[in-house]
Amino acid sequence: MNAFEMMEEKDHEEVVFFSDKKSGLRAIVAIHNTTLGPALGGCRMYPYASAEQALTDVLRLSRGMTYKAAVAGLNLGGGKAVIVGDPKKDKTEMLFRSFGRFVQGLGGRYITAEDVGTNVTDMEYTRMETKYVTGISRALGGSGDPSPVTALGVYRGLKACVEKVFNTQSLKGMRIAVQGLGHVGYYLVRHLHDEGAKLIVSDIDGERVKKVVNEFNAEYVEGDKIYSVDADIFAPCALGAIVNDQTIPQFKFKIIAGAANNQLADEDRHGKMLIDRNIVYAPDYVINSGGLINVYNELEGYNQEKALSQAKNIYDIVKNILDYAEREKIPTYVASNKIAEERIYHIGRIKQTYVSKSETVMRRLERF
Ligand code: NAD
Repeated sequence: MNAFEMMEEKDHEEVVFFSDKKSGLRAIVAIHNTTLGPALGGCRMYPYASAEQALTDVLRLSRGMTYKAAVAGLNLGGGKAVIVGDPKKDKTEMLFRSFGRFVQGLGGRYITAEDVGTNVTDMEYTRMETKYVTGISRALGGSGDPSPVTALGVYRGLKACVEKVFNTQSLKGMRIAVQGLGHVGYYLVRHLHDEGAKLIVSDIDGERVKKVVNEFNAEYVEGDKIYSVDADIFAPCALGAIVNDQTIPQFKFKIIAGAANNQLADEDRHGKMLIDRNIVYAPDYVINSGGLINVYNELEGYNQEKALSQAKNIYDIVKNILDYAEREKIPTYVASNKIAEERIYHIGRIKQTYVSKSETVMRRLERF
């Protein structure tokens, strides 16, 4: 496929290549859909082996952001940037200032933020050249670390699943397995402990385990044992692709609700396998959207109370998705993708991948 065909396949609006020999910058910005608002999405730095690999990644990631913002109810479109380079070796002030000048040139159609391989310092260099950047420190008027807000959203989404499966608002006595006790996992565990949940935790970092075991009276299990523990809920907050052919048969959980990105190794197959096993899955990009909600709030002058209150609303968003999936007998991630497409379609345009032609016709008829 050539670049145009790759864009047209999922209906991307705009793709921009940037190159600056002096700073060594080679970057691509992809804007998938701006129906709801400017395209916001992080800037990933990675040593891509080829321009095609970088383009494939930025097209995939930017489209994901369109759906994430739409389901979270934000007035944002989907976009993403990639910088070709090794984040351990190739970062300089000049590189990110050069990137910032290019972003500025897009006039606000794309707003950047941190992502894998970039950090707050990089975004502060970027900000020296453009106002279209989020995810900067509190000291500079930004929103700082998004993890507490992400954790609050995960906690609320998890409670929506509990309500659905166990018909209760309370987590008292629930057994919850948490994988990963980092930025999000730690705050999540605190919420769960405060509600009287019994915690089973794992992390490869011994110090983090020690802290959580002492503070929250959690039980520790080593490595992959977390997949087979006797618990009601699994909250993955470390790695992607942990819901796969090897782990699903081990699960005794009734719910999977955690912060990690790309939890299903294969969305289609493993989404269906979870339905067959009667396990309720909170789509990862929905339940972890507190981070996006946090940076969105930066655009209007950051107010943490407002961001936290929007993140609490993830309860209703997840509940709605679970009800829809149950009614339509479809995997929960398909339900959330449909909800996203429907929201955008009602306002403007999007290539509908999840909503079928007959559903579109029905909706047109409903409008008359
Ligand atoms: P983090 O790096 O702070 O924490 C990850 C933790 O997982 C670390 O403590 C690490 O030691 C542990 N870990 C790594 N491999 C492990 C393994 N095999 N078994 C058990 N533990 C392991 O990251 P974070 O910011 O807390 O993010 C956690 C997940 O949530 C990531 O997948 C991230 O992409 C996603 N996420 C985070 C945010 C956010 O606001 N930070 C927002 C959306 C999504």
